[in-house]
Amino acid sequence: MSWSMTPIEIALQEARDAAARGEVPVGAVVTDASGTVLARAGNRVEEMHDPTAHAEILALRAAAALRGSPRLPDCTLTVTLEPCPMCAQAASFFRLRRVVFGAYDPKGGGVEHGARIFQASSCHHTPELIGGVREGECTSLLRDFFVVRR
Ligand SMILES: [Zn+2]
Repeated sequence: MSWSMTPIEIALQEARDAAARGEVPVGAVVTDASGTVLARAGNRVEEMHDPTAHAEILALRAAAALRGSPRLPDCTLTVTLEPCPMCAQAASFFRLRRVVFGAYDPKGGGVEHGARIFQASSCHHTPELIGGVREGECTSLLRDFFVVRR
């Protein structure tokens, strides 16, 4: 039941659903200040033929559409994997209050690794960051997916 699930649990469910569709298992959820879920999504890169259809982008766009605003300053993005540079930049553009993620991504991440978007001088809004939430579960979901496909 979604009312009893924490945001990271919802994101994990979205990630599992994405895996079942043949997508890289990443899930994301946007919650408001009271913890109400505004939007949730999993990767749909293959389905939409769109390399930018990452879970975070889809969830943020849906939340902004629901709000009727391009800014979500009271909102938290919770995602199973460290956001890539594109999604980290989007989190800044949407003026998010907080970004919570599960697994760290040394190869593709853009928050704690690589471009480190929020530390760049071109980044004008930095959300509060919390990494490593339910890290083991989030990491093994990805690892299992790539082991099966390899
Ligand atoms: Zn991304």
